[in-house]
Amino acid sequence: MARKFFVGGNWKMNGNTALIKSLVAETLNTAKLDETVEVVIAPPAVYLEKTRATANKNIGVAAQNVYYKKSGAYTGEISPEILKDVNVDWVILGHSERREYFKESNEFVGEKTAFALENGLKVIPCVGEKLEHREAGKTMDIIFAQLKAIADNVKDWTNIVIAYEPVWAIGTGKVATPQQAQEVHEQIRKWLADNVSAEVAENTRIIYGGSVNASNAGELSKEKDIDGFLVGGASLKPDFVNIINARL
Ligand code: PEP
Repeated sequence: MARKFFVGGNWKMNGNTALIKSLVAETLNTAKLDETVEVVIAPPAVYLEKTRATANKNIGVAAQNVYYKKSGAYTGEISPEILKDVNVDWVILGHSERREYFKESNEFVGEKTAFALENGLKVIPCVGEKLEHREAGKTMDIIFAQLKAIADNVKDWTNIVIAYEPVWAIGTGKVATPQQAQEVHEQIRKWLADNVSAEVAENTRIIYGGSVNASNAGELSKEKDIDGFLVGGASLKPDFVNIINARL
């Protein structure tokens, strides 16, 4: 099965109703987007419903987080059921900003990933090393531990897209070279083959995130294990269209 190229836009804590109009209604909806690419955008939670109602049906919408309970006394949290009620199909989990600022552990991310999948969402779990890990030669130890916590909890990998996001490349303008990214993607795929199954390794999309823009997306996309991108800053600009269309 060929892996469909995937481009996600993580708005983080940015955007407003004006951006939904200018970027979604007037830009993404009217642009000619490469039909071989699956596009998903992730606005802040309060804008999910409006974004879903505005975006063309071929554009998916993702939340930036979800909790692992069906409902109840969890002030401030959102459940998979609530997301599905507003027709949101995707969720990003374990973004490095959540791991860093909100102290999300590997285990917590693994449990949330499994719960979200079991409750009908598609999940983009994020993995990636900090600069100090890379410099200490520990990149793959960190990533394998993050993957293991997911694999320990998840039974069915069909609806997972793994995002490899080196923390040193996020929002810094320091993009990984295509070779650096490919090397890690290849090892993630091998880890899946060795620890989950050959089929999951072959079929699971592994996307790169970290200062992707319209100028570097083309070269990165040529690497054989890079199946797309998770884009932060550049997903807030009309240039996001050029990242989606980078392979045309
Ligand atoms: C991200 O937040 O997932 C990200 C990759 O950000 P940026 O593209 O801005 O580096």
